[in-house]
Amino acid sequence: MKKIIVTNSWDDNHPKNLRLLELLNKYNLKATFYLNKNHLYKHSESEIKKIAQNQEIGAHTLTHPDLDKISPENAWQEIKGSKDYFENILGQQVKMFAYPRGFFNQDLKNIVAKAGFLGARTVKTFCLEPPKDFFEFGATLHLYPFPFRKRDARNYHLTRFLFQPLQRSFKGIIKLKLPLDSFFSWQNLAKNLFDYVYRNGGIWHLWGHGFEIEKYDMWGELEDIFKYISHKPEIKYLSNSEVLENENSNFIR
Ligand SMILES: [Zn+2]
Repeated sequence: MKKIIVTNSWDDNHPKNLRLLELLNKYNLKATFYLNKNHLYKHSESEIKKIAQNQEIGAHTLTHPDLDKISPENAWQEIKGSKDYFENILGQQVKMFAYPRGFFNQDLKNIVAKAGFLGARTVKTFCLEPPKDFFEFGATLHLYPFPFRKRDARNYHLTRFLFQPLQRSFKGIIKLKLPLDSFFSWQNLAKNLFDYVYRNGGIWHLWGHGFEIEKYDMWGELEDIFKYISHKPEIKYLSNSEVLENENSNFIR
C-alpha cells in the first residue's frame, strides 16, 4: 500500500508561534518547531513546554548564526548548546535540528550527528520522499507569498526579488507536471502538491516561519490549506522526527 505522510516545520522564535500552535492542534496536525535560545524573541519556558505538549521542539542553534561562517568550535557550541538548552527545559530528548538559513556542509552535518541528533532539516523544497540522508531533510514547499513577493519596503522595486518565489518553484512545477493554476498562488501550489502526494504516495512537508504568516497576513490562507490536508484516515500525520523514525522502522522490517 502506498504510504502518505504529512508533516510541517516552523522556524525561529516569535510570539505568533502560539497562534500557529493553536491552528495545528485544531486540525490535529503534527509539526516540529525549530527554536533558538534567544534570537528575535525569547520564548519563555512555559511557552516552550506548551508547544511541546502536542508538537515537537527541534533545535535551531542558540543565536541563529550562519554556521558555515563561524569556527567548528563555535558551531559545536551553537548546535550542542541548543540541544542541551531545550532538553533541560523539557526533560526529554530533542531529536531534530534545523540549519539557520539552510547553510550546511559535510563538516556541519558531522557536528550535528556527533551532538546526538537523529536528523536535520534544510531549506530545500520540492522533496516528495522522506530523506535518504537524515541530515539533509528537505521540505515540499515553503509557506511564502507566491508567485510574487508582496510589497516590501526594501525589495518591492527590485524585479529580481519580486520574482524570486516564482523562480524558486518554476522548475519543480514543470517537472511534476502540476496543473497550471499552481503558478497563480501558493495555496494552489500547496493543494496541487498535496494531490500529487495523495495520488502517488510520499511526503508533503510544509515549511515556514510564524512571523511571515503574520507579516504577509496569511492566517486565513493557511487555515484553508490545513482544512484541505487534515483528517484523512489513510494519511500519517507526523512530526519531523517521527518521519525519520518511521523510515528506520521500515528498514528493520
Ligand atoms: Zn531560522
